Amino acid sequence: MSSSGPTRQLPLARSDSGPKEPFSPGSVARQLDYCTFCPKMCRHACPVSTASGRETYIPQVKMDRLNQLRLGHAKWTTESTDPLWACTGCRHCTMYCDHGNEPGLVLLTGRAAAVQHGVPHPALAGYSERFRAREQRLSAQLVSSFPDNLATEGDIGFWPGCDAIDKGIDDIAATLALFERVGLEAVKIVQAPQACAGYPLLAAGHGDLFRWHAGRVASSLRGFRKIAINCSACLYAMRSQYPAEGVNLRTEVVSLADLLAPAANNLACSLKKRSVYYHDPCYHARYNGVVEAPRRALGQLAEVREFGWNKNDTECCGGGGLLPKTMPLVADQMSKRRLAEVQATGGGMVVTSCATCAFMLKRNAPPSVEVANLATAMAQLSETPFTAPQTPMDEDS
Ligand code: SF4
Ligand code: SF4
Repeated sequence: MSSSGPTRQLPLARSDSGPKEPFSPGSVARQLDYCTFCPKMCRHACPVSTASGRETYIPQVKMDRLNQLRLGHAKWTTESTDPLWACTGCRHCTMYCDHGNEPGLVLLTGRAAAVQHGVPHPALAGYSERFRAREQRLSAQLVSSFPDNLATEGDIGFWPGCDAIDKGIDDIAATLALFERVGLEAVKIVQAPQACAGYPLLAAGHGDLFRWHAGRVASSLRGFRKIAINCSACLYAMRSQYPAEGVNLRTEVVSLADLLAPAANNLACSLKKRSVYYHDPCYHARYNGVVEAPRRALGQLAEVREFGWNKNDTECCGGGGLLPKTMPLVADQMSKRRLAEVQATGGGMVVTSCATCAFMLKRNAPPSVEVANLATAMAQLSETPFTAPQTPMDEDS
């Protein structure tokens, strides 16, 4: 547990170490072999196994299972592949691995193989079609909700992410109000046929579709010099997975927190700052390097309190890896565990900087805990008014 900063250095992410690592067949085989014979050094770090209480979901067992499938020692069935889906890709195990193994990424190769063997997770049947239909519905919803704040080109664009359009439309309204307040009114929402960068396709085992989708997103963003992104998985996908798949994104991508942190100097707050907790999204902290910017933005308006597990050592809220679809009870339990710490100290406000984390934490928050995404929290703390448009809830969320 870390209270003041990273305790261990993470190994190179996929984008840093060349296009084929850690997905080359040799690298995957080596990592699977290391894990198979490992004395479970990272078992304490996996929030999925901890929240579920299942030994079959510790990283070593999940990797061993995939190794047995790879070597032909087990048959590809729904039952045998179940552990491959018990992962949010949070990368916490990698923090505690002396080999720098990446179970969260290697298990994605197992999911893709499961799909190829005709055994996708039962909850993800027909997922590619569902993803495409959701994209169409949410991009249309964005246009109808904010018709005066859209652009297909410009210096800086704003990418809300699908979960914000679907379940956090008030947060998009808050972001636009903040832009207006701090002199960023030229920043418009990116108008595109896509609402999501495509990470769920990768997590569902549809690598080819992900590559195709990434190419279309890159094309939609071409008119912008820079994009500020409200979703930690979208930023991760664009920054790390697009280049790994050979998709050339010419647009610079940053987190929304990176854009808001310097602008927050222009916001005033009451003399006595409210105390709020900050939850690090695991993809921001352990893949994207977005750790200090949200704290700087929030710190202008509030006293930032830390969770016991924080920064590079943060604990996942359960929203990654499509876990809310494949194992919804476990995913919810992960959020509840995360918030129990705040509840135990009497409750309070928890702020995060990812639309998916905000949704997961909100739906699992006890009455004493208020959850807000960064822009909404900043608007509330600086008394910046905003009004959310009315939208229907997405059913395939
Ligand atoms: S990721 Fe590292 S520590 Fe964890 S089981 Fe594999 S080899 Fe062991
Ligand atoms: S990436 Fe996260 S969820 Fe997946 S095995 Fe590692 S610790 Fe568990």
